[in-house]
Amino acid sequence: MERIVEFERFEGEGSYERSLRPTGWDEYIGQEKIKKNLRVFIQASLKRSEALDHILFFGPPGLGKTTLANIIASEMGASIKTTAAPMIEKSGDLAALLTNVEEGDLLFIDEIHRMSPAIEEILYPAMEDYRLDIIIGSGPAAQAVKIDLPRFTLVGATTRAGMLSHPLRERFGMHFRMEFYTAEELARIVAQAAAKLEIGIEEKAALEIARRSRGTPRIALRLLRRVRDFAEVAEERTISLETTRYALDQLGVNHIGFDEQDLKLLELLISAKGRPMGLSTIAAALSEDEGTIEEVLEPYLIANGYIERTARGRIATAKSYELFRLSPPETDTGGLFG
Ligand code: ADP
Repeated sequence: MERIVEFERFEGEGSYERSLRPTGWDEYIGQEKIKKNLRVFIQASLKRSEALDHILFFGPPGLGKTTLANIIASEMGASIKTTAAPMIEKSGDLAALLTNVEEGDLLFIDEIHRMSPAIEEILYPAMEDYRLDIIIGSGPAAQAVKIDLPRFTLVGATTRAGMLSHPLRERFGMHFRMEFYTAEELARIVAQAAAKLEIGIEEKAALEIARRSRGTPRIALRLLRRVRDFAEVAEERTISLETTRYALDQLGVNHIGFDEQDLKLLELLISAKGRPMGLSTIAAALSEDEGTIEEVLEPYLIANGYIERTARGRIATAKSYELFRLSPPETDTGGLFG
């Protein structure tokens, strides 16, 4: 079965998600601190008629980074070009992107930690001095070319803050860490989306979806879509709590939004009886790649106190043991249980 709470990396954005994407601040719910700061910076740079400083967003997938970049562009009255770092393979790819932006435009690069070092080198002067230094051709015919660029704003997004090179990180004037959403915020997002889709939903049903969405708008919207199907079959005009619960149970999403993979991970850590477990061991046991575990599975479990990441590996916390109605080992210092 498709993993309902998972995100395929670089998945093509479906028309469903696109049609629900907030177009302005009033529709962008939550992330209040980020919104407040961005609004100030946008106003200031509009007043000075200057391009906005380069911006970096950190955070797990589906929390609204791309959406924010689009709202910024529209607030600035600028255009936005969107790409992902793995798609920029050669210096020419980056040159083509940068020579096509206009004064004040935004260039959004997703998964920016996956940029190759050679491309990063070209990006530095482009970010700092709006200048492109590239070599065209190879061998004796190779030519160094300098191109002046318009003042543009680079918006980088990354799911892995730690993997970004220091010099690249330093070249962004603004850094924002995205937070998981509260159930109340997600319920508002679900209700807003339902209104756009012209379907009714009980307040409690929206909250139920919210609670099971791992703090993530993209998951909430996905669950809403599935629940809507169940409601349609049940010929409900307003999605009820009962149908919502039934649908989510059928989809294998438990009452706090954990699915099979989350539970397997917790069980695995619990089976280690307090000994820290390394990422590679976890990856092998779950037949999952390490990146997915670190970027998709773990962040929510860590943010909510179900697991702890230590220098020696991951440990299940007392909260995890409670979830399975088990009592935690007496000490979690590890190594004592040999
Ligand atoms: P990311 O770029 O972080 O992976 P996206 O910006 O693509 O996430 O967000 C995924 C979807 O979730 C968007 O299409 C949008 O409809 C919805 N969404 C994200 N953040 C919000 C928000 N704060 N308010 C309302 N909807 C949101």
